[in-house]
Amino acid sequence: METNVIEQVFGKDVFNDEVMQAKLPKDVYKTWKKTLESGADLDSDIANVVAHAMKEWALDHGATHYTHWFQPMTGVTAEKHDSFLSPATKSKPVLEFSGKELIKGEPDASSFPSGGLRATFEARGYTAWDCTSPAFLQEDAAGVTLCIPTAFCSYTGEALDKKTPLLRSMEAISKQAVRIMKLFGYDDVKKISCSVGPEQEYFLVDRDKYLQRKDLIFSGRTLFGAAAPKGQELDDHYFGAIKERIAAFMKDLNQELWKLGILSKTQHNEVAPAQHEMAPIFSTANIATDHNQLVMEVMKKVAKRHNMECLLHEKPFDGVNGSGKHNNWSIVTDTGINLMDPGKKPHENTKFLLFLAAVIRAVDEHAELLRLSASSPGNDHRLGANEAPPAIISIFLGEQLEDIIEQIIRGDVSSSIQGSKLDTGVHVLPVLKKDATDRNRTSPFAFTGNKFEFRMLGSSMSISGPNFTLNTMVADVLQDFADELEKADDFDRAVNELIKRTVTEHRKVIFNGDGYSDDWVAEAEKRGLPNVKSFVEAIPYLMEEKTIAMFERQNVLTKTELESRVEINYEIYSKTINIEAKTMIDMAGKQYIPSIIKYVTSLADSINSVKSACPAADTSVQTELLTKCSSLLASAQKALANLEKVSLEAAAKQEGKEQATFFKDVVFPAMNDLRAPIDELEMIVDQSFWPVPTYGDLLFEV
Ligand code: ADP
Ligand code: MG
Repeated sequence: METNVIEQVFGKDVFNDEVMQAKLPKDVYKTWKKTLESGADLDSDIANVVAHAMKEWALDHGATHYTHWFQPMTGVTAEKHDSFLSPATKSKPVLEFSGKELIKGEPDASSFPSGGLRATFEARGYTAWDCTSPAFLQEDAAGVTLCIPTAFCSYTGEALDKKTPLLRSMEAISKQAVRIMKLFGYDDVKKISCSVGPEQEYFLVDRDKYLQRKDLIFSGRTLFGAAAPKGQELDDHYFGAIKERIAAFMKDLNQELWKLGILSKTQHNEVAPAQHEMAPIFSTANIATDHNQLVMEVMKKVAKRHNMECLLHEKPFDGVNGSGKHNNWSIVTDTGINLMDPGKKPHENTKFLLFLAAVIRAVDEHAELLRLSASSPGNDHRLGANEAPPAIISIFLGEQLEDIIEQIIRGDVSSSIQGSKLDTGVHVLPVLKKDATDRNRTSPFAFTGNKFEFRMLGSSMSISGPNFTLNTMVADVLQDFADELEKADDFDRAVNELIKRTVTEHRKVIFNGDGYSDDWVAEAEKRGLPNVKSFVEAIPYLMEEKTIAMFERQNVLTKTELESRVEINYEIYSKTINIEAKTMIDMAGKQYIPSIIKYVTSLADSINSVKSACPAADTSVQTELLTKCSSLLASAQKALANLEKVSLEAAAKQEGKEQATFFKDVVFPAMNDLRAPIDELEMIVDQSFWPVPTYGDLLFEV
């Protein structure tokens, strides 16, 4: 029998556990596994043997180069390739790869954002092997390259990347959760890991059309464009039948992902036309993060093969839904207990209730920080815009847990609402068991059975930030809990009191209703929940005293590292809006306005020639159009001049908060002022004069 394609290709390009077991001497493999499990320092002899095996395996697969693959603060991955050629090469090539080269790299890489952590003259940066995430092969026109996942830090050890704080946060939460488990008598639990399953949304558009849109090329989103006659109102795209061209892409994508050991699981059409989603099976947080970066890269690469472009921007098109990423998160012991699993009778599951209370308190205490962790210039278009969760952080627990929380607060906990049978009223259908809790798609942070789903993330972002923030917040509360409970004489009593006190104090963050409604905005304000309106306004929360104290206490980020991230965030915002503004200026000045002038001229010519041919003819249509277009053209020209002016003013501002705020408050509205008349013109100008593909072309003709 022929093997299934999944079995044939899965993990083919990964130096995974199975390969290591086969390639490494038994004792080395054993020591290696132990090191990995205990998190101890890696012995250099072992590293040398692993490096050798890795090289042999890579060479067998045709690799010529290796690279330390890392994730600087740009949000995309970086690599610098070295060939395996050794300096010992004389007439015949000698191919080498040592333990030292595996463990440490020095890419210089002084041009990556460091937020002031290093000046260019002290540019030394190091990459350090993250042996918890397997090495893999990447194939492109340059050949086959062995990619080694690494962390990236400065000469003084400060984190310059997205991986380092994530790894630190995983240690932090593990340490504190193990303490709690000990108190419950689980002495066998040595380590706790975070499981993450990110659902990835994306758009696919035809590449030839994409290449005609400078806004998509430079900024990833359309900066102009009138709505097509049809949008998503019929809900006919969501979960709809997948078009052949898209299906071919998905097939290819799956195979490429499976080769990399990525557990690509579900695929479907999303709400907006041309929008789709892929979700993998969850894995450990840092592997999930590495994999999500790869997913985004592979999506882009495979799309090109099908002459399409994959758009990962949070809001590529106005008027239809944008794209997000749902970050499913839970914590699991090395003995296999999911600490977010309520079990059949959650009201009796004190351990679960304590961890739940920790999450509730963490989210309530650091709501602004969590909001920031999911923010980006692109995501500003979604959060709070009734297509994505509101910018207000709240937790959805569902009927069953909400009821238990009420019981705890009242002081008598006696029951859990159970899921009933689902009655479809049709006898031939099987009787289904209903979950004890429905879903809530409007909540930013929703409990979904045995995990939390953080639903605010933007589609293009690295999931590292949200996860290390979440881990650190929860670790910090767990530390507080453990400190208190370890001192208690009567553990049972103390733990129940602690749960009751915590949920009573933080119940305000729990909200089971419609997060998209205006009532909720008013209600949240009454409850005193923060409503941080934008990315720029969320950045200062990184510098709050309680934030710094928390990150330092958990050894995840120092004050200096946080300061650098503040700077980088402002810089990212300013640069993004600046690119968008410049692109608009370019498109308006070189494409739209000249084309509209041509159209207006043709109208004038038409009036003149009709009149000269037949003085009595009615040219009122041309005249009306001419008047209207000329007036909109004048508005566009004025708005263009203003955008040019404020862009120059922005450039002169002090970098950092002042500049970013100016971009948000002045440049961004000026961009909208330019877009409005052009979009209006798009609705009346003769199609043959229009210089770029329209929303209709892009969204419906994939
Ligand atoms: P839905 O769209 O209904 O939320 P999906 O299947 O699209 O469901 O996505 C659910 C995601 O949650 C998947 O990536 C899945 O692997 C992940 N997941 C399931 N259980 C856990 C868990 N315990 N911890 C983290 N992620 C989980
Ligand atoms: Mg989901």
